[in-house]
Amino acid sequence: MITDKLQKAINEQITAELWSSNLYLAMSFFLARKGYPGMTVWMKKQAAEEHRHACRMAEYIISRGGVVKLDKLDVVPNDFGTPLEIFKQVYDHECRVSKMIDMLVDVASAEKDHATQDFLWGFVREQVEEEAQASNIVDMLTHAESAGVCVVDERLGQRI
Ligand code: MG
Repeated sequence: MITDKLQKAINEQITAELWSSNLYLAMSFFLARKGYPGMTVWMKKQAAEEHRHACRMAEYIISRGGVVKLDKLDVVPNDFGTPLEIFKQVYDHECRVSKMIDMLVDVASAEKDHATQDFLWGFVREQVEEEAQASNIVDMLTHAESAGVCVVDERLGQRI
C-alpha cells in the first residue's frame, strides 16, 4: 500500500506529465504551421511519450492499491520561436522535469517506500536520455544555423 503523501506526489507528477504532453503537442502544431514536417513528427512522438509516462505512473499507483486523481491542466503556450528556440525550451523543460522526478524519489525515500524508489529509478534514467536528446538537437540546430551563415559569408565574399 502506498502512503497518502507519496500518492499525492505521484498524482501531481501525472498532471505535470500530461501538461508536458500538451506543451509538446502545441509545439508540434506550431512546427506544422511553420512548415517543418520532420520536427512536427518528432514533437508529436514526444507528446505521446509524456502521455505514456503519465499512464505508467497511474498504473503504478493502482497496482499499489492507491487512487489516481487527474487534476485540471494549465493552458500551454501556442506561440513559439525558431526551431532552435523551441528545442532550447524543450531542453529547459526536460531539466525541470528531471528535478521533479528527483524530488519524487526524495519523497519515496522519506516515506521509506523502496518499491516506489525502484519504480522511479526508471524515470531518473529516462530523464538522462531526455536531456541528452534535447541537448543534441539544440547542438544540431546551432551548427545548422552557423552553416547557413557560412553560406551567406561565402556569397558576400564573391562581391566584385
Ligand atoms: Mg516525462
